[in-house]
Amino acid sequence: MSKKSWFSNLKCRECGRLYEKEAIHICEFDFGPLEAAYDYEAIRGVLTREVIESRPKSMWRYRELLPIDGDPTVGTQVGFTPLVKSDRLAKKLGIRELWIKNDTVNYPTLSFKDRVVSVALSRARELGFEVVACASTGNLANSVAANAAAAGLKSYVLIPANLEQGKILGSLVYGTNVIGINGPYDQVNRLCSEIAGKYGWGFVNVNLRPYYAEGSKSMGFEIAEQSGWQLPRHTVVPMASGSLLTKIHKAYKEFVDLGLVEVSDFAIHGAQATGCSPISTAFKRATEMVRPVQNPETIAKSLAIGTPADGYYALRSMKETGGSAEDCTDEEIVEGIKLLAEHAGIFAETAGGVTVACAKKLIETGKIPSNESAVLCITGHGLKTQEAIIGKVGEPRVIGPSLREFEALVADEVAIKS
Ligand SMILES: *Cc1c(COP(=O)(O)O)cnc(C)c1O
Ligand SMILES: [Zn+2]
Repeated sequence: MSKKSWFSNLKCRECGRLYEKEAIHICEFDFGPLEAAYDYEAIRGVLTREVIESRPKSMWRYRELLPIDGDPTVGTQVGFTPLVKSDRLAKKLGIRELWIKNDTVNYPTLSFKDRVVSVALSRARELGFEVVACASTGNLANSVAANAAAAGLKSYVLIPANLEQGKILGSLVYGTNVIGINGPYDQVNRLCSEIAGKYGWGFVNVNLRPYYAEGSKSMGFEIAEQSGWQLPRHTVVPMASGSLLTKIHKAYKEFVDLGLVEVSDFAIHGAQATGCSPISTAFKRATEMVRPVQNPETIAKSLAIGTPADGYYALRSMKETGGSAEDCTDEEIVEGIKLLAEHAGIFAETAGGVTVACAKKLIETGKIPSNESAVLCITGHGLKTQEAIIGKVGEPRVIGPSLREFEALVADEVAIKS
């Protein structure tokens, strides 16, 4: 890989002012979010389908479109997760063609957050940070802890104290500093902003957020490449802060602009849990005012962000592409997890249940027409949120180690070969 950087500046999404590539995330003039800007003319000359295909199968095969200066040093093997066609789930949900972008098997911590952390920590090292940190609903904490451990960076992860055991253990095991906060995510996040200002740490989703957020584009790049260099007609994306959805949109637009995919209609749809649905509620009310949710109440804790930083931009992405938003109850989330497991053989966490359940509604209501094709973004592994389904997927039937007991058990279910 070349050492040249195609990443030129940070740029305010509101006023377009350019900033140096530092650990800053908000415009001084209008408080607009800063975003990475690139020299697309230069990229057009180097980044072809052939070049990408010749590279290792990781998210870094799109390196020119990710915001670091040198070669990546953290999470170099992250990404390029399977895009799986599921005819059985397609039939069950009543759609012609269905694909699962399976980030439950993302390396190393089994969620799409490894993508954002790979970029944020590679950039943190370039900027000279020795301590990295995050405010997290669980998966980000796991990924920061693991990738910081591998890179030899000191880390602090701040989480709501009431997260699932799998998410808490999945941070503690790496020897990071786990700090549980008594309060919802928004209060964790506010505290992290204060700490970031005072301690000079690299907070991946606060002062390093412009770098972090761009990592999500790799999921969109991979979907397009794995679809045979085409954009899917429909993409369903779970929303917490709304960042992933906006970055999949940006990824698709960049590929169109660079001529890597044909121009075609594509719609991006957002999925939330009803118990914390500030973005889908605003969409349904046809307003761009995202009203904060004070006390999120849902088993989809990874998506429980009451004041979504990118809610407004996610609404714009959905509207601009002709997508829509849905939300679903806790019961529907569990049903979604089971539908995906029983028909596609994929065990997703609660956020995956949200995506499947909302996709089901979008198909039922014709927002995703049944004769078209859709990709569902499944973003985290089910072993991390076992609480959500304990007691809801049956129990093993226990017998002694005897053939007689076994046959009594299955007598009604299977015919014995004679
Ligand atoms: C963080 C997360 C998301 C989406 O997060 P955004 O803040 O909207 O980018 C989706 N699924 C899972 C499992 C997550 O952990
Ligand atoms: Zn600005």
